Amino acid sequence: MSVEAFECQMCGHCCHGEGGIVMTEKDQKRLAEFLEISVDELIEKYTEKRGGKLHLITKEDKYCFFFKEGCGVHPGRPDICRAWPYFRGNLIDEMSWEMIQDYCPGVNPKAGHAEFVRQGKLYLRDEDLLRYDPDSPNALISDD
Ligand code: SF4
Ligand code: SF4
Repeated sequence: MSVEAFECQMCGHCCHGEGGIVMTEKDQKRLAEFLEISVDELIEKYTEKRGGKLHLITKEDKYCFFFKEGCGVHPGRPDICRAWPYFRGNLIDEMSWEMIQDYCPGVNPKAGHAEFVRQGKLYLRDEDLLRYDPDSPNALISDD
């Protein structure tokens, strides 16, 4: 049986940092539905535009607005949050995979990069997290 390449330890590191959470239309609809508000209200209250893309806003401490001892909107969270740590860079570059181990304690070094890639691609496919249009975050890979 293969080793788990990733298991979230709920440290919250990936919910910290300004402007990283890109909101596609699919993400906007899902989060608005979860919050029981309209997409327009979601955009106005909880997003800001940067580089032509909508991003979730952060709090003063630079954590995502919805971070409260974990993700406060877990069932409605955007694709980019669902896809981490299986981002393009970490899948194509073993060095990046090694580097994120300092940042994300959920990544299991014992699994090895090849296994991380194998499990990551399966996960992204199963969870419908592959890049599907030009507005999708660049960190997502397409099906190949
Ligand atoms: S950085 Fe990794 S272990 Fe920490 S919350 Fe994010 S995914 Fe989980
Ligand atoms: S939506 Fe949830 S998982 Fe995504 S950055 Fe915000 S708190 Fe973290």
